[in-house]
Amino acid sequence: MSKIVWQIRRPSRGIPRPAAPNLRGMSRAELGDWLTRELGAPRFRADQVFGWLHLRRVDSFDAMTNLSKHERAALSERASLERLGVDTILRARDGTRKLRLRTVDGHAIESVLIPNDERGLTQCISSQVGCALDCRFCATASLGFTRNLDTWEIVEQVTRARVLLAEEAARDGAKWTPRITNVVYMGMGEPLHNYNQVRRSIEILTDDAGDAIAGRRITVSTSGLVPAIERFASEGLGLEVGLAVSLNATTDPVRDQVMPINQRWDIATLLAAVRNVPTSRRRRVTFEYVLLRDVNDTDADARRLVSLVREFRCHVNVIPFNPHPHAPYQRPSDRRTQAFVAILRDAGVQCWLRTPRGDDIQAACGQLAAEG
Ligand code: SAH
Repeated sequence: MSKIVWQIRRPSRGIPRPAAPNLRGMSRAELGDWLTRELGAPRFRADQVFGWLHLRRVDSFDAMTNLSKHERAALSERASLERLGVDTILRARDGTRKLRLRTVDGHAIESVLIPNDERGLTQCISSQVGCALDCRFCATASLGFTRNLDTWEIVEQVTRARVLLAEEAARDGAKWTPRITNVVYMGMGEPLHNYNQVRRSIEILTDDAGDAIAGRRITVSTSGLVPAIERFASEGLGLEVGLAVSLNATTDPVRDQVMPINQRWDIATLLAAVRNVPTSRRRRVTFEYVLLRDVNDTDADARRLVSLVREFRCHVNVIPFNPHPHAPYQRPSDRRTQAFVAILRDAGVQCWLRTPRGDDIQAACGQLAAEG
């Protein structure tokens, strides 16, 4: 019997709450309120502190040289700038890098940087330590759920990556540091299960005074948490930020088996929620489809997939299964994969075939499972 996935824990449960708030997890508006309340500081201090954290990426209050001595001392007493530790950085032959980061309470999380067509990098970030959903093909699922990541821990993955890229460029004598142009919430965890923290991290990452990542270059991926998709749609988060839905099967019996969350919200219910997500000519919804040999990869599956998605302005991301020791599945042959994709394309469905990136460093899609 599968785990009862819909008894969802409260979003903030388990996040360590330090005595002093971490300023890295505050939006500029929140920072303004906090600085005014705690220090009686003028509002523009928020812009300065935000810039120190998200443009200059400093690690101490002492480095914030345009603040008064008194303010810096008060900040070090009342606020924290804790950061994620860096355990390892692995670089794959294709330029993909995997970062293994460590939380203050000792948990490992992973994040991947993938070179993209725009000569920048797409960063795949984690939203939870482990995951509470039980998708049978997923490496993270095998870890179980430990806790949600706090807002600052989500943002820090990007900050740390930027610091590391700058260090790498300086070491290699490169003329420029590669830019992180896109962010996808497709690492460890179910982002919509940690909705508030994810939403706040997006607010920080898109701020022009900081990382300034365009909302349309951010994608949140979900296994199909219907109430959270409804919230995403109604709050207008989906106006800018993209949604990716991991469909992964075309019939309820198969989806029930590979993604037990389907036993709570079946395909029809899921698609009904996706119908309310705003789309436009530029902004489409993405359906992800992990191809599992002899499970969901037949011509009939491809045809059913066409009929399920054809009403949407969408892309379909076909991802041949990336094997790992925790799942009993296999990747279909290249021929089968091509035949599957051809049926979608012939039917006019916009479709990308995801070739594994960074698979020599276990950074390929769905391989993130940081134990220890
Ligand atoms: N929980 C979210 C985001 C993390 S998974 C979600 O389910 O969407 C990100 C994507 O990786 C999902 O589409 C998932 O179906 C896919 N995935 C997971 N394990 C995989 C594997 N072993 N091989 C290929 N894709 C995988």
